[in-house]
Amino acid sequence: MSNQLSDRINNLPTSQTLAMAAKARELKTQGKDIISLSLGEPDFNTPDFIKDAAIEAIQENYNAYTPVNGYLELREAICRKFKRDNNIHYNPEQIVVSTGAKQSIANVAMVLLNPGDEVLLPAPYWVSYSAIATLAEAKFVEIPSTIETDFKITPEQLEAAITPKTKMIFFNSPNNPSGTVYTEEEFRALGKVLEKYPHIYILSDEIYEHINYGTPNFSIASIESLYNRTITVNGVAKAFAMTGWRIGYLGAPEWIAKACTKMQGQITSGTNCIAQRATITALDNPVSKIQFMVDEFKVRRDLILNLLGNVEGIKCNVPQGAFYVFPDVSYYFGKTVQGVKIENASDFALFILEKANVATVTGEAFGAPDCIRISYAASQDEIKEAVKRIASALK
Ligand code: GLU
Repeated sequence: MSNQLSDRINNLPTSQTLAMAAKARELKTQGKDIISLSLGEPDFNTPDFIKDAAIEAIQENYNAYTPVNGYLELREAICRKFKRDNNIHYNPEQIVVSTGAKQSIANVAMVLLNPGDEVLLPAPYWVSYSAIATLAEAKFVEIPSTIETDFKITPEQLEAAITPKTKMIFFNSPNNPSGTVYTEEEFRALGKVLEKYPHIYILSDEIYEHINYGTPNFSIASIESLYNRTITVNGVAKAFAMTGWRIGYLGAPEWIAKACTKMQGQITSGTNCIAQRATITALDNPVSKIQFMVDEFKVRRDLILNLLGNVEGIKCNVPQGAFYVFPDVSYYFGKTVQGVKIENASDFALFILEKANVATVTGEAFGAPDCIRISYAASQDEIKEAVKRIASALK
């Protein structure tokens, strides 16, 4: 019956992050000893002070529909957060709370993009950006980068990619999958180019903002000349270990926020009331309360880089944020290992899933066909064991 499905869904690629996670789960159920380093999600529990706020909200009978754009108290807390952490001034009418940052991004794409518009994606980019642009019937245009430049694009590359049809650019720093963090100076240089093209909107996905190992985070909406055409997306999933709570949000010019609310009002309405109440507490508490997770991620990053450094043919950049390493594995392309011919990153990822029982995600899904993504949001023991297995499978 799949010929009965719409072209829209038939042309939509499956999310490779979710697909690999599902595959790993399935293999585990079959009794295989799989280490899943595929999905990007903290392995910590949501901190108690946030859980307590949720329990309190249940007991206080927060159970009714919320405003589509989120409780006013939450939108006020988000405004305080943007001011405190990002030097961006929004009022609550400029904020929309959604079911995960993924929905925030989809809302923006749906309300700003027309068929034929071009969306610039500095590569590597998170798997769903290209899919969401496609769903909005826009064309995505990759701006490539390599491990040699720490996966950063230059202002010259940006300018060369712009056409009269360019409607948006997606930035994501710290980056999923490469862990790259752009400095303020680098953002300002890219911003100088964008200043010349007032027809381009900027979506800045800052979901990994707090998982940062040193380079201060910089929000492009804090550049005054770009504020009126920048949408800042964030959420609580990564920083507060709240992936399943599904709370994302955006700050934007009011007319864009209003359009996102209208879109969301026809699809999902306001997101979960209990999770919204808990998010007020998460955002109003000092960031220092979650630093222990960031510190642990840094230890794991150093561990995995060290271990991978000893595996032949695996080349890594030093990620400055997020919780992924994104090694270039192209050394193995064209080689036959344990009787299996590896032609590309997908073959490589499949090879280590089958021969090492380690699940990762192919870089092809992120617009970087020489690489694979390994999430180190896992215990140190799992990381050690995973790299040991990879190394021995490749020998
Ligand atoms: N953003 C996470 C990842 O890249 C979660 C999965 C997803 O939604 O893609 O693994």
